[in-house]
Amino acid sequence: MDQRFDASERFADGAQYIDGRLTEGSSGHVHTVVDPATGEKVLDYRTASRADVDAAVAAATAAYPGWAGATPGERSDALHRFAAVLADQAAELAAAESLQCGKPLRLSTEFDVPGTIDNTAFFAGAARNLEGRAAGEYSADHTSMVRREPIGVIGSIAPWNYPLQMAAWKVLPAIAAGNTIVLKPAELTPLTSLLFARAATEAGIPDGVVNVVSGTGPVAGEHLVGHPGVAMTSFTGSTAVGRRVAEIATGTVKRLHLELGGKAPFVVFDDADLEAAVHGAVAAALINTGQDCTAATRAYVQRPLHDAFVAGVADLMATVRLGDPFAPCTDLGPLVSHTHRDRVAAFVDRARDHATVVTGGAAGTGDLARGAYYRPTLITGAAQDSEIVRSEVFGPVLVVLPFDTDDEGLALANDTPYGLAASAWTRDVYRAGRATRELRAGCVWVNDHIPIISEMPHGGAGASGYGKDMSMYSFDEYTQIKHVMYDNTAVARKDWHRTVFGSRG
Ligand code: NAD
Repeated sequence: MDQRFDASERFADGAQYIDGRLTEGSSGHVHTVVDPATGEKVLDYRTASRADVDAAVAAATAAYPGWAGATPGERSDALHRFAAVLADQAAELAAAESLQCGKPLRLSTEFDVPGTIDNTAFFAGAARNLEGRAAGEYSADHTSMVRREPIGVIGSIAPWNYPLQMAAWKVLPAIAAGNTIVLKPAELTPLTSLLFARAATEAGIPDGVVNVVSGTGPVAGEHLVGHPGVAMTSFTGSTAVGRRVAEIATGTVKRLHLELGGKAPFVVFDDADLEAAVHGAVAAALINTGQDCTAATRAYVQRPLHDAFVAGVADLMATVRLGDPFAPCTDLGPLVSHTHRDRVAAFVDRARDHATVVTGGAAGTGDLARGAYYRPTLITGAAQDSEIVRSEVFGPVLVVLPFDTDDEGLALANDTPYGLAASAWTRDVYRAGRATRELRAGCVWVNDHIPIISEMPHGGAGASGYGKDMSMYSFDEYTQIKHVMYDNTAVARKDWHRTVFGSRG
């Protein structure tokens, strides 16, 4: 098989997945999925209208009683089959993901797809392990118990940086717990969300349990968030759009889960292993071409190591090979679009006034000129309060800043509104312990930066949002608990009635 993916053939019936079938969108608007490595068209598709969102919510509503009523064991079996279908389709999923995002096939094959299959297997097991508090007599006359129940139809909105994994993080805990779902992927990257939904059907998950509406934020996204038939909105994307989503959701009093932007600090203390820190920083800044909400973006390096760290990062960045995402030797693909590349370049250009661009700071040339390529970029000398240090660039750009005392390093690291991820680099267990306590983030790594696992939660603090993806903690988002209280006395006139009837009680 050609390792590239033929989207026009696969999605000839349309790019909406509603009630177990691909259909055309009816908004009257056509969106073009573009290969960011070449600028060539991958797929023209008709985007979802409000009516398409209504149809998807109706399908999810109709599927809900049957799916919520299935036993945990039945849902678990279906998710195990789902993991097996995804494993069978791994090559196609990886090719589609690389084509629409421009990410190296090596990354899709070794990270995005196996991570998604592992998440699916995790939630297959987790579906049978939903617990509440043990039943007990907390009042002498009653037995209380907690039921953990699904919420209903979930409306989820996902970004373009890891489309397959974001679809998985949204869909899997929701359906493992017995909800049904309507997912809106980013309009740039719907392909793998559609393949994921189709794989669910092939695994025997009933029609209507997983639906995908491919459309724009203002039309399909806002209608989904405000939809009265949707019980919960789960959103991953930028903090700016998250605010808009929160405003709309508030009007309909629904549960909200927000996974937003990040600006992760990477704190290198003076006793750190320099080689490990340099390799860790370059890998964590460049993974997915820096379009990772947890990417290392601000390295604070204690003064004795600062210059050697900068030199090491510059040297290592120079070895990174940009190229065709499908070529085995390619380390770094393009950014997701030419528009986004220009946005990243503009951030770097604005920083030139007051900071030093040590390496990079340029688009791809020669064979790379048609793609949305941008060279790995290292910036020093920026002020802590400058835009390049405080705003999310979402590209292959690392800023390095020095610090003197541990107090100062940790304070600078915490000095943005974001709080998604952070790392501390040290061989001193007490420094590491202090950093893990004091860094404000949903995840703190020690002597590493990026790895995630299905068993552990992912989510932020501050402007990075709230709610957890992956792990058993995600069930706190996608279930509601109900207190059930049984009278044990069988007495018609209960003691507490005296508070209403007085002595007549
Ligand atoms: P984005 O906020 O522009 O778009 C995200 C999604 O929201 C897309 O599907 C888009 O169509 C939709 N949308 C846009 N406007 C909308 C509206 N008015 N109403 C409803 N939906 C709307 O983000 P992006 O550019 O696709 O992705 C990059 C962002 O995602 C970065 O900020 C990154 O940090 C963040 N992100 C966060 C996490 C996390 O776990 N916290 C994970 C991945 C990405």
